[in-house]
Amino acid sequence: MTIFVLTFQVKIMIVYKFGGASVNDAQGVKQLASLVAKVNDPLIVVVSAMGKTTNKLETIVAATLQGNARELELISNLRFEHNSILNNLFKNSSHSVFAEIEKLFDVIERNCNSYRNKGYDMLYDQVVSYGEIISTKIVSAYLNQNAVKNKWVDIRKVIITDDNYRDAQIDVAETAKKCNTAFDYDGFDCYVTQGFIASDKKGNVTTLGREGSDYTAALLASILDAEKVILWKDVQGIYNADPLIFDDAIFLEELTYQEVIELTFYGAKVIHPKTIKPLRNKQIPLFVKCFYEPRKKGTTVKETKSKKINVPVFIVLNEQVLLSISLGDLSFITERHISRLFALLNKFKLKVNLMQNSAVTFSVCIDTPKGQEITELVDLLRKDFKVLYNQDLTLNTIRNYNEAHIKKMIGNKKVLMEQRSRNTVQFVTETI
Ligand code: ADP
Ligand code: ASP
Ligand code: MG
Repeated sequence: MTIFVLTFQVKIMIVYKFGGASVNDAQGVKQLASLVAKVNDPLIVVVSAMGKTTNKLETIVAATLQGNARELELISNLRFEHNSILNNLFKNSSHSVFAEIEKLFDVIERNCNSYRNKGYDMLYDQVVSYGEIISTKIVSAYLNQNAVKNKWVDIRKVIITDDNYRDAQIDVAETAKKCNTAFDYDGFDCYVTQGFIASDKKGNVTTLGREGSDYTAALLASILDAEKVILWKDVQGIYNADPLIFDDAIFLEELTYQEVIELTFYGAKVIHPKTIKPLRNKQIPLFVKCFYEPRKKGTTVKETKSKKINVPVFIVLNEQVLLSISLGDLSFITERHISRLFALLNKFKLKVNLMQNSAVTFSVCIDTPKGQEITELVDLLRKDFKVLYNQDLTLNTIRNYNEAHIKKMIGNKKVLMEQRSRNTVQFVTETI
């Protein structure tokens, strides 16, 4: 009797994500290529917009709405910046990538025009999403030029969301179906794709919220059962405070999913808050590593850690607004008033980071909106309430705190609001 033994080779896949801080210039793209070239396993490379491109595209959106054609000058500046990077990366000036990027900047110009009157959120997504389309076209072409054969995947055709522009929610079932076809490893071991962007069921582009590329990497890893995700950052890993602000920040070698979710919930900018859940569901480990010093040990994030250490964690969230509503005649603020406030905050997509109520006042600390939303919101609220608000504030959070930590973080700063629980203390202060 002949026995046939069928062997299936299970492909174990890795996801790398490179943020804007890493692909900031031509040197960054070269460094990305050197890291990708070393990988022998199937790999998905998720890339953000280069450097501060997303901020610049946001300014282009704001200029478009002002209607004085200033966006054209800003688009031309961004085109120039990307062109200098291309000139550095591709010595052959007739390489097709030059024309491709030119065309994409033309699309940005056209979209500013055609979506100008379609509402801020829709316009935003149809313009800002091009930062990632452009960066991935450049990265993919550069890798191909340097013998790293790869396939550019248009993630807008793979990740499907609702039409809540600027903060779209993923349709996981629909996305999973499309993912398995888009990343089928048929002829390719390396895929290059965009973070942060997706599209709704009608095919309009959507975005997943600022810093959303980390989330894209985690989502793809979870759907495709990746072995691990590495977020390559401009820092060694995760610290107990932003090392750019705190000279004495402590590097954290290991963290649990739970600890990182809490860190990001309170506003630590190092990872997008939605990143952890999809990874935890599939128990996929996350590594945060230093882009320019890949040999250094980064931070490992998984279900449990080997050593239990309880360091204080300091989180600084700038650009906050503190908004207080009252009825002005010593009447109590009731659930009906609070729900009116929240309906409006939801309408303007304003994120509440802290809230507090007293007998006659209800206060919320929110992110400063990019456009005119705060004036529009206050005007609407003033129809029913007395409204006070302060801008340019900082929300300071300390986890695992003691009085010495509070003294160190707050010092003599003027405190406008304070909230304490057993583990966490938060202060809204003036920004210094
Ligand atoms: P990327 O563009 O790669 O997504 P980000 O700029 O979003 O990178 O995140 C990295 C930055 O996060 C660092 O430059 C650092 O200043 C900041 N950061 C804030 N809090 C922390 C923290 N607790 N640990 C490490 N970095 C932090
Ligand atoms: N480019 C987007 C942003 O700057 C997404 C990201 O970087 O994760 O917010
Ligand atoms: Mg980021």
